[in-house]
Amino acid sequence: MRVLGIEGTAWAASAAVFEYDPDDPAPLDANPPAIGTDAYQPESGGIHPREAAEHMGEAIPTVIESVLDAADGPVNAVAFSRGPGLGPCLRIVGTAARALAETLDVPLVGVNHMIAHLEIGRYGAGFDSPVCLNASGANAHLLGYHDGRYRVLGETMDTGVGNAIDKFTRHVGWTHPGGPKVEEAAKSGDYVDLPYVVKGMDFSFSGLMSAAKDAYDEGTPVEDVCFSLQETIFAMLTEVSERALSLTGADELVLGGGVGQNARLREMLATMCADRGARFYAPDARYLRDNAGMIAVLGAKMLAAGDTLAVGESAVDPNFRPDEVAVTWRAGETP
Ligand code: ATP
Repeated sequence: MRVLGIEGTAWAASAAVFEYDPDDPAPLDANPPAIGTDAYQPESGGIHPREAAEHMGEAIPTVIESVLDAADGPVNAVAFSRGPGLGPCLRIVGTAARALAETLDVPLVGVNHMIAHLEIGRYGAGFDSPVCLNASGANAHLLGYHDGRYRVLGETMDTGVGNAIDKFTRHVGWTHPGGPKVEEAAKSGDYVDLPYVVKGMDFSFSGLMSAAKDAYDEGTPVEDVCFSLQETIFAMLTEVSERALSLTGADELVLGGGVGQNARLREMLATMCADRGARFYAPDARYLRDNAGMIAVLGAKMLAAGDTLAVGESAVDPNFRPDEVAVTWRAGETP
């Protein structure tokens, strides 16, 4: 089967075509989804929902057309990001997906964007039942599978991790996205104390970000603040990931989300996993940041499980939580 995936929860207007044989699933390296993406780049400040939606409306027809033109034949289904994400962007993508599915007379598949971040890692690693750390722009949480659902084991009590970093970089006047600039500046920084807030398997970034802005305003070199931000935030994420592995008894950790592109975060998670004999997998950068490949991959698995959506029930949901999704595609599967 061949599935078109469409992603458009925030900055990435993205489409992908994925070939999937549920009886003999090929490894991702041998059979990667063909992805086309047109990224929204704010001229100043962070992601503005209206501008992001304008970009989505302009870019999405072209990226869809280009991946369909390059595909080997007609698609058997249209999968799209139903949420979570920015409402104005999601509505454009939902409309495009419904119109295409109706026009092509193929089923529609509604994908939870956060579960897609997890499943692309699980598929790539061939993991059975990992804990997943989703470290993305607008979210930060740990997921574990139990009794037919991905349960939220722990999560941010305020902002997403990438958004927290981006707020600091906006404060110092750097353009969006801030994460890669913090990673670069941190290479020549020294450690200064910042608040570390973990409560069980939940965590908080807001006090930490205020302290980072204050430290910068008081004259601490920006490199030192960037280094300390990374060390503190990633130590928090590593601590809660270890707790989740320990409490669930899982021995596989998979990383998802755009902040997962950061080499220091991957290093800390890999060290923690090696210390406790767990396996760690982080997908390639192209599958970590928002991308339609992950929507097409999970969409194909959902289609194979018969998990399709009537157009009349396909409303998008900006607050779509992963634990709302009944996991239909894992029964008796080969990952
Ligand atoms: P979500 O998936 O929750 O909807 P999102 O749409 O913002 O989030 P992602 O592509 O998952 O998108 O993540 C984007 C975030 O990743 C931005 O906040 C960006 O600053 C951050 N980021 C990108 N590269 C790096 C890096 N090297 N280090 C740290 N953060 C990074």
